[in-house]
Amino acid sequence: MITVVGSYNVDFILKVDKFPEEGETVFAKDIYISHGGKGSNQAVSASRLGAKVRLIAAVGNDEYGRRAISFWEDEKIDVGYVKIKNAPTGSAYIIVNENGQNMIVVNRGANIFLLPEDLNSELKGEVMLTQLEIREDTVKKALREFNGLRILNPAPATLNDISILDYVDILTPNEVEFKELSGADDLDYGIEVLLKKVKKAVIITLGEKGALIGMRNKRIRVETMKVNAIDTTGAGDVFNATLAVYLEKGYEIERAVRIANIIAAYSTTKIGALGPRLEEVKSLIEEEA
Ligand code: AMP
Repeated sequence: MITVVGSYNVDFILKVDKFPEEGETVFAKDIYISHGGKGSNQAVSASRLGAKVRLIAAVGNDEYGRRAISFWEDEKIDVGYVKIKNAPTGSAYIIVNENGQNMIVVNRGANIFLLPEDLNSELKGEVMLTQLEIREDTVKKALREFNGLRILNPAPATLNDISILDYVDILTPNEVEFKELSGADDLDYGIEVLLKKVKKAVIITLGEKGALIGMRNKRIRVETMKVNAIDTTGAGDVFNATLAVYLEKGYEIERAVRIANIIAAYSTTKIGALGPRLEEVKSLIEEEA
């Protein structure tokens, strides 16, 4: 069982020719509405790879919240611990211009009301996966009291209570988050800094360059698959979900990272933030899995 503690947002993606100036109104060319939030994305991606997944998240008592729950049920996720709060379901307004650049406003809504006291008996299991889109005190309690392997994907990059890292077994920053957390540009030195707190490993995702695993006295570079990437949104979420799935199966970190790289790279060849189902990628990971 993988326990994901994290966020849910409805994503409103607006395509425009150019961003509005201050005080200006522009017309959207298109709008897409999709399920988002790192917690939800990672939970769904893990479930699609065949893992049993329990999601601890908060939504509002509104239509978006009900749709989120029915989406998770369709994705075979255990929603028994999803909380319904007296606040609007989280939402993200993503404006994308012609060059693919974006501007994002997030209304965190119910995500902020997922409180430490909402987490109790469910803090048992094999693997926990969490991120930083919900309250830090909730993340801290989840990690501190969980009795299995704890993975923190420190995204987005801001972490105020650095003591959270004391309760992390595996930390999975991208390059930006890594620099922010370690205060170092040099990968090797930054890994040493973070390993003073993190228990087992720091895995830095490096986009098309794959990933670097840092453990005490050991560094392993893991290349990824060469692909024609068309949408890298959510590649990190797919990477983390896959890592959790294969660590839960008992694979060594390096082998789990190899598979996570392959499936994350594959996911960049499709539009959208969610990962593929196992059947779709089985042949790609045959040698590793
Ligand atoms: P990132 O968060 O950008 O570091 O990406 C997470 C993971 O997704 C990486 O470690 C790769 O495994 C994969 N990935 C992201 N972008 C690409 C790309 N352009 N080509 C191949 N794999 C990618």
